[in-house]
Amino acid sequence: MNSNPSQSIQKIVIVGGGSAGWMTAASLSNVLKGKCDITLIESDEIGIVGVGEATIPPIRVFNQTLGISEAEFLQRTNGTFKLGIEFVNWGSNGSRYFHPFGTYGRQFDTVSMHHYWLSAHQQGQAKPLDEYAMAWHLARKGKFIHPSGDPKNVLSTFEYAYHFDAGLYVKFLRDYAEQRGVKRIEGKISHASKNKDTGFISSVSLENGQVIDGEFFIDCSGFRGLLIEQALHTGYETWSEWLPCDRAWAVPTASNADPIPYTRSTAHTAGWQWRIPLQNRVGNGHVFSSAFISEEHARQQLLDNLDSDTLAEPRLIKFVTGRRKRFWNKNVVAIGLASGFIEPLESTSIHLIQAGIAKLLALFPDKSFNQRSIDEYNRIAIAEVERIRDFIILHYKLMERRDTEMWRYCADMDVPDELAEKIAHFREFGRITKGEMDLFGNTSWLAVHIGQGNTPQRTDPLVHYSDADYTGWLNKLNQVMTQYAQQAPGHMAYINNMTKS
Ligand SMILES: Cc1cc2nc3c(=O)[nH]c(=O)nc-3n(C[C@H](O)[C@H](O)[C@H](O)COP(=O)(O)OP(=O)(O)OC[C@H]3O[C@@H](n4cnc5c(N)ncnc54)[C@H](O)[C@@H]3O)c2cc1C
Repeated sequence: MNSNPSQSIQKIVIVGGGSAGWMTAASLSNVLKGKCDITLIESDEIGIVGVGEATIPPIRVFNQTLGISEAEFLQRTNGTFKLGIEFVNWGSNGSRYFHPFGTYGRQFDTVSMHHYWLSAHQQGQAKPLDEYAMAWHLARKGKFIHPSGDPKNVLSTFEYAYHFDAGLYVKFLRDYAEQRGVKRIEGKISHASKNKDTGFISSVSLENGQVIDGEFFIDCSGFRGLLIEQALHTGYETWSEWLPCDRAWAVPTASNADPIPYTRSTAHTAGWQWRIPLQNRVGNGHVFSSAFISEEHARQQLLDNLDSDTLAEPRLIKFVTGRRKRFWNKNVVAIGLASGFIEPLESTSIHLIQAGIAKLLALFPDKSFNQRSIDEYNRIAIAEVERIRDFIILHYKLMERRDTEMWRYCADMDVPDELAEKIAHFREFGRITKGEMDLFGNTSWLAVHIGQGNTPQRTDPLVHYSDADYTGWLNKLNQVMTQYAQQAPGHMAYINNMTKS
């Protein structure tokens, strides 16, 4: 049976014009091709959060789907390449490890490569795990090159994402969406009206009296959740017991060298500091827990740990980690911060916006707003976000530092059951158990387990049946990676070449 065209939604209202609002507007305008009215309402007075600057590799798919050229994107957003995250002082004080995008080397038989590494390492015949990731070889030398499409080439074993200026990305997407017919209204929404029978949102009213009606509303209004919470009272589940950080100071600094192609996260006494290099400046921020450190002390820690002059006064952002009880409620879907927030340790918020849009397109409603599709959206969204949450909690739980109250709390806390099992399983067998909807794959889990000292008690028994010369193979891999990284172009030179040619 064909769907009934008269049931098609004709009026979509997007509330909010941050990354979530404009990413949604750009995607919907691309797919709906002017056959549905799309209106976006944003308030200049309220503004946007605007600190989302680091991403993970799927962002490339988002841009490609919109047909955005990479060179133009980098040019317009002061963007740089990101090969992973370096974690400093996580695990133990003074330790460093890299969470690379891509894989560690490449599998050469049925046994997962890391078991060979574990075995060789236990015999004192392997270097630290980072040394087998192509992404780290490039990153530490400040180099970049696009991955090779040839699976036999070691340059095919890494992936990349971007750092960019979130405010400029929003402007870029706004141009894109407006060119495709999205209507923007500037003004502050003071009220949402509901249909008295269904409880569905029927319109929103601005402070100046203008009323905008719609059939389908996308709530991208940020932490306040104007429709999903303030109008529909959907409820919020908090995760503060596992993710105690609830504030961040953010400050940009001048660039004093070419940008490095990776994010750095440095643990302090009651939180951690990000360093995100763009072409023209560096984004910095201190994410901390107000239960363990005062705002003033946290601000000073940030200022004491910068490597160049500040370009503005530090800005304080407050948040509560958690999620809406439902992401889609009646005729409102919440995307972005309106749907919840996991702190930015693994740069996942913009990805969750992208994932929300992808689910919305896969389960796009008509005027009947079938509850089965809504339930499916919520089921997938909740599983997705909880798996990411667990991966972030892993970093806190595996903190071996006992030097401050906050890190002692984290090391001793109980974690969600599925995560507790993953940690125990890895510790005992060196195996990574995969949950449904896990965004982060083996490399990511491995990087954090090994990097933060959750060393397995044994290796896979299959290693002992192998007659492969795996220590020789690991050596060779490391040598080839070193050589390729040596020959690769400098990161900034590569960007200049792309954007200025
Ligand atoms: C400290 C911190 C660091 C982060 N770092 C990263 C990172 O590195 N990587 C990453 O992927 N993500 C990061 N994020 C998340 C990222 O910033 C957000 O996911 C992203 O900016 C999306 O925000 P948003 O559009 O949902 O909300 P906002 O940017 O808050 O936008 C809300 C919009 O709603 C509008 N609005 C609100 N109320 C009204 C009203 N009454 N009337 C009209 N309009 C209204 C506002 O004007 C604004 O346009 C970080 C977040 C924080 C807090």
